[in-house]
Amino acid sequence: MKDNRTFTMIKPDAVANGHTGAILDQIIKGGFKIIAMKYIALTDQKAGQFYEVHKERPFYGELVDFMSSGPIVAAILEKQNAVEDFRKLIGATDPAKAEKGTIRNLFAQSIGANAIHGSDSAENAKIEGDFFFSALERF
Ligand code: UDP
Ligand code: MG
Repeated sequence: MKDNRTFTMIKPDAVANGHTGAILDQIIKGGFKIIAMKYIALTDQKAGQFYEVHKERPFYGELVDFMSSGPIVAAILEKQNAVEDFRKLIGATDPAKAEKGTIRNLFAQSIGANAIHGSDSAENAKIEGDFFFSALERF
């Protein structure tokens, strides 16, 4: 599959703490083009569905509660090698382990409230983008 698109969410902690603008700035300066974007609140049910792959993990309940605790910014991004390059830009899941200057290093609170999501494969980027956006909502 062509790996030129990824999917992201600025998570409720980062939105609530006023980091939306700074994070979008890093994304754009990182060379990613915004193909689709929306400011939206996930219901408990929708957050559960999005993170279904983690259903058996011990943190699933907490993750679903957190992701439905406030609005998020969801977006589809385009760049060559988008998935891998975006994971580099956001840094490790645990902000304590995220490289200096990465979005999670700068803005995340904890391993759960870690500021931002990035797809882990081109296949999942497509599934996740389709979860949020219709054909009319992408450019
Ligand atoms: N998460 C958590 N505790 C953990 C691992 C993950 O709360 O020990 C949360 C965290 O918000 C993370 C999300 O679950 O971003 C999905 O986990 P994954 O392992 O896919 O990390 P990611 O791909 O987001 O880096
Ligand atoms: Mg993941």
